[in-house]
Amino acid sequence: MPQKTKNTPMMEQYLAVKEQYPDAFLFYRLGDFYEMFYDDAIKGSQILELTLTTRNKNAADKIPMCGVPHHAAQNYIDILVDQGYKVAICEQMEDPKLAKGMVKREVIQLVTPGTMIDPSASEAKENNYLTALHESNEKYGLAYVDLSTGELKAATLESISLVLNELMSLRTKEIVVDDSVTKTSLDKIEALKIMISKQDEVRESAEASYTIQDIKNKLEVEVIQHLITYLNVTQKRSLGHLQKAVHYEPSNFLKMDPYSKRNLEILQNSRTGKKQGTLLWLLDATKTAMGGRLLKQWLERPLLDSKKIISRQNKVENLLQHYFERSTLQEELTSVYDLERLAGRVAFGNVNGRDLIQLKQSLEQVPKISYVLNELNDGTFDDLLEGLDPVGDVVDLIENAIIDEPPISVKDGGLIKAGYSAELDKYTDAMKNGKKWLAEMEAKERRETGINNLKIGFNRVFGYYIEVSKANLDKLPAERYERKQTLTNAERFITPELKEKEAMILGAESKAIELEYRLFAGIRNQIKDQIKRLQKLARAIAILDVLQSFAVVSERDHFVKPKLTAGKHDVKVMGGWHPVVQQVMGKQSYIPNDVVMPEKLSILLITGPNMSGKSTYMRQLALTVVMAQIGCFVPAASAVLPVFDQIFTRIGAADDLIAGQSTFMVEMKEANHALSHATRNSLILFDEIGRGTATYDGMALAQAIIEYVHDHVFAKTLFSTHYHELTALSEKLPALRNIHVGAVEKNGDLIFLHKMQPGPADKSYGIHVAKLAGMPENLLKRANFILGKLESKKKHTDNSVSDEQNTVEKKADVKEVEPQVDDKQLSLFEPEKIVYKKDDQKVLSEI
Ligand code: ADP
Repeated sequence: MPQKTKNTPMMEQYLAVKEQYPDAFLFYRLGDFYEMFYDDAIKGSQILELTLTTRNKNAADKIPMCGVPHHAAQNYIDILVDQGYKVAICEQMEDPKLAKGMVKREVIQLVTPGTMIDPSASEAKENNYLTALHESNEKYGLAYVDLSTGELKAATLESISLVLNELMSLRTKEIVVDDSVTKTSLDKIEALKIMISKQDEVRESAEASYTIQDIKNKLEVEVIQHLITYLNVTQKRSLGHLQKAVHYEPSNFLKMDPYSKRNLEILQNSRTGKKQGTLLWLLDATKTAMGGRLLKQWLERPLLDSKKIISRQNKVENLLQHYFERSTLQEELTSVYDLERLAGRVAFGNVNGRDLIQLKQSLEQVPKISYVLNELNDGTFDDLLEGLDPVGDVVDLIENAIIDEPPISVKDGGLIKAGYSAELDKYTDAMKNGKKWLAEMEAKERRETGINNLKIGFNRVFGYYIEVSKANLDKLPAERYERKQTLTNAERFITPELKEKEAMILGAESKAIELEYRLFAGIRNQIKDQIKRLQKLARAIAILDVLQSFAVVSERDHFVKPKLTAGKHDVKVMGGWHPVVQQVMGKQSYIPNDVVMPEKLSILLITGPNMSGKSTYMRQLALTVVMAQIGCFVPAASAVLPVFDQIFTRIGAADDLIAGQSTFMVEMKEANHALSHATRNSLILFDEIGRGTATYDGMALAQAIIEYVHDHVFAKTLFSTHYHELTALSEKLPALRNIHVGAVEKNGDLIFLHKMQPGPADKSYGIHVAKLAGMPENLLKRANFILGKLESKKKHTDNSVSDEQNTVEKKADVKEVEPQVDDKQLSLFEPEKIVYKKDDQKVLSEI
């Protein structure tokens, strides 16, 4: 630790400030730089690739130091915060020239991962949520805020695992906790690599009382108060753009755990972690950043209320039917900037002239948007039209006050229009006249002295001067001219007359700059009073943008309006497809499939070779459900769907997600989660459950799980398996049907039809797949030989029912080749019961 006694007063000041922010990088303003010292400097110079120097080079205890120019500081702050650090910005609070003694310095903002509000363009369509948690009697108050838009929501959750789910869904980078949160909970949060910030005390503030107005629940009020206090403490400024907190019930939305969302690639590609190849990517034809963010929120929380869903669907349908109006609407939306974030910056106080021009241009689009919407409105858009307030007073204000192309800085003047302020116009005139007068004076001096290259110039140190080259000095009359500066080739002079004008010009200029800044702050405050209106408008525009996006994509990809049968429980998706797979592989190559599950049918048991399309088929249904419940059209020729309450998936390998647990353990945990939480209104997708353990073990579990779903859960369930034996369950379980993916052999090769067909698959085709994979001919021959042996061995132990089954399958004649070897393995069921129903032979759509 540095010795305080030896420090200069400045370092004393630095250390005192640093003591208050031990876990943040302290950016300490020194003139035109922000400097870092000690450990901050060592670590900061590494991360930011800055040169590390020392402060007191000659002393024994050198102070490591590095710095960044103040005008470029934002980039460096962004890098540090992006990497999960906090940055405290310490400013000079008085003009160093005027300061007596040490310049006063204060931290004006603590930037943290959850409070970053200047996202790069690539993140415009992302929300950055700061979350807070308060715990009481194993109940959890959770609140989250996007500081850039002011959106604030709160919920009460019953378990820490629900909290963790929310944190993952929100992709929160930072969570604010108080001492009510237990160590057990903190450990679990920490495992998600979320920054934990402590905020124990609660402070009263205008923002706190405003935001909690509509919140009835004590736990939620507590957590919001902690959250707002944290914002006040770190941001140290007005947060007038924070919206009233909205209470939400996670149970009012279609529930999907984060693993399922990942599995289904709704927002994130499971391989790349990017947007490309996801449902979000497919559906995103939004034109504004607000629409982009809202689409993501809708995909995070599909609806359960069929009225609301149908209201969205009807709007999409209307837009679909009005091609011309829709295209105009899209064009108008393209010119709308990020109103939500602009409003946030107005409140935050870091808006500039250019932002206001963007705000004006965006608002000018509103009447045009309303006009087009009125053209096509048949009542469906009444609620949205009501929200499209053009906020004309703000448009007029900006139009009258701000020039069309203002500079970036608001502190150097040159952004207020003539005519807006009489006082400012007076200064501007004085400046203009002064300059004119200078030009005239230059001409006069040239005339009178006969020096043609005499010129009047200006510099910061000496102000205005008359410059005469050395060669012409003798032509200058001595009186009136006072020498100010000597250059190599010239001398500079002033005259009393010039001094007088200088005072007037410079006075007017600095007064004008100062006045412009005050006027700008006034304009900003006037707009600040209208923030709630701007936010309401932004919301309406975002909704409209998402709906037009649905219409565009639905038309492009030939989606249909699904018929929702709330309260009923039948699924009938005809000619459906996986929207993303089809988009990637092309419509020609994709084989559409039906999913037909009437009221009484709860399980489809899917068999078929590897790589034949089983899991694609299952995902297809889940995505169709999600799309239907966000109000979009769906990828099918026609679709009837119930409103599902939850989707559970156990598909493919999400196994690496929970470190230290075996694949099989994860599989069982997820299956257990589904079995214990699913209701008859849920959708369960189980892909080859039981695969991770010994064959009989796995098969036995798989069967028991199927039976459990069948007898106790009643959820609509798609269960794929390569345990062919399980197909015999259809006999025992009336609400289960077999389907399989067709494949044909041609000249010994296997061709997948990707077509779902009724009944069980003939065989596992494993060896054919191995052949497709290019295994050596001899090896394949050998495998066939071993298989034959195994089969015949089993034949001896099996009894005659296998033959019976075989006969039924032959009758089925679904264009598949005869199995080369019998695929009848040891059955887990009473053999005499294995008889196939006639139903299984019909085409699926007739089931
Ligand atoms: P499985 O789960 O049976 O092993 P997948 O569902 O993973 O098989 O599908 C394997 C591949 O088959 C997919 O990557 C896709 O390219 C292709 N596929 C799946 N379904 C279809 C379909 N209906 N039409 C065309 N190709 C499909």
